[in-house]
Amino acid sequence: MGLTGIQIYKLLPGKNCKECGEPTCLAFAMKLAAGKAELDKCPYVSEEAKAKLAEASAPPIRGVIIGSGDEQVKVGEELVLYRHDKTFVNPTAVGVLVSDKESDEEIEGKIKRLNETTFERVGLTLKANLAYVRNESDDPGRFETVVKKVLELTPKGVILESSNKDALQKAAELAKDRKPVIGAATPDTVDSYIDVAKATGASIIVRSSNFDEIIDMTKKITGAGIKDIIIDTQPKDAKELLFHNTWIRRAALKKKMRELGFPVINMVCDMTDDEFKQVVYATTSIGKYGSIVILSDIQKHTLFPLLVWRLNIYTDPQRPMVMEQGIYPINNPDENSPVCITTNFALTYFIVAAEIESSRVPTWLLVMDTEGLSVLTAWSAGKFVADAIAPFILKSGITEKVKHRKVIIPGYVAAISGELQEELGDEWEVLVGPREATDLPAYLKNYVGQGQ
Ligand code: SF4
Repeated sequence: MGLTGIQIYKLLPGKNCKECGEPTCLAFAMKLAAGKAELDKCPYVSEEAKAKLAEASAPPIRGVIIGSGDEQVKVGEELVLYRHDKTFVNPTAVGVLVSDKESDEEIEGKIKRLNETTFERVGLTLKANLAYVRNESDDPGRFETVVKKVLELTPKGVILESSNKDALQKAAELAKDRKPVIGAATPDTVDSYIDVAKATGASIIVRSSNFDEIIDMTKKITGAGIKDIIIDTQPKDAKELLFHNTWIRRAALKKKMRELGFPVINMVCDMTDDEFKQVVYATTSIGKYGSIVILSDIQKHTLFPLLVWRLNIYTDPQRPMVMEQGIYPINNPDENSPVCITTNFALTYFIVAAEIESSRVPTWLLVMDTEGLSVLTAWSAGKFVADAIAPFILKSGITEKVKHRKVIIPGYVAAISGELQEELGDEWEVLVGPREATDLPAYLKNYVGQGQ
């Protein structure tokens, strides 16, 4: 929760000695409040003040890291109730339930699908993130074998569930390097989870449908020095899931209840056996404050809508997705290949690039920085107009890649062709391409066919 400059100033030494690089303590406090200075620049700030500032500046919802390396995910650390207020920060991690009662073939199949079910979209790879291994067999040896197998088969983060303390301890030791999560603590068993977490560095899931019990458990765990907690309120249906998740987020953000300031896990796999109902529950969870959602299986047709939904919810609405300005070669173009130009709005780029790719015509695609605006919007905002496009083309380096001097502009901005021709000079020929990207393949094939 951010402190104001005045609140921070009251915690500073008040020496006005300038050693922090600011003329006064107040000026330093203002910079701290704006996030433009580091507290350790002041050599005189007391340990007590440091602790208070760290506590006060901690995010209202704890960020919890699960996994390691490229597959590591962070959940929580959200700052707002509504995406349009700022942005949601850490996307909901999607995981699959693996029970040690399942056969080896079933487990291997689930982990294979977890690893291999990925989708490319606007230049990003969309994928699930976690394996949730549950000890249902009442056999500690079987649980250990399954945890070992899962760790061997996937590099992703793991959540380990067992009510057997020794079995959980062994499993958490095996997964120690992955920063695992263990669960699920209840009011009667929370002490044993604290012991395992202390020994292995694991985070703890606290499970109860009673919010008072959740609060008692998080107090006890944080009191034992463990900060990484995940809350499971065991909702029965979508209505309860929505209510629980919203209640916890509001309590953490609006009421500043530190005891509920932790990521929430939704075990949609336990709410229904119906895979499509699980998608509905998971959609609700991703849309409303679920930090982790666990499905009973991963299938392309159920995972795809969830990951696209997640991508949309966790895209910063204030920052358009953009491509870097530059020259993009598609289908191995050479010095005779056509040159197209478009804007750097990521969606525009990927639609245009996909159509060029499908045409199989080797093409150079010039992508101009229009601050993430699409073609027509950029044109109407004066960012994709002749006197901006011409200097970009001339300085882009495309003249070193092609012998010809022809450029194809989107049909939607046909009106600027004359002016662009003037800006580029007689050496150049401005061609007007189709309005819709879907017509590009035919246009490019025709262009090449005519020996242009
Ligand atoms: Fe104040 Fe510390 Fe800066 Fe000195 S170094 S002016 S005491 S904030």
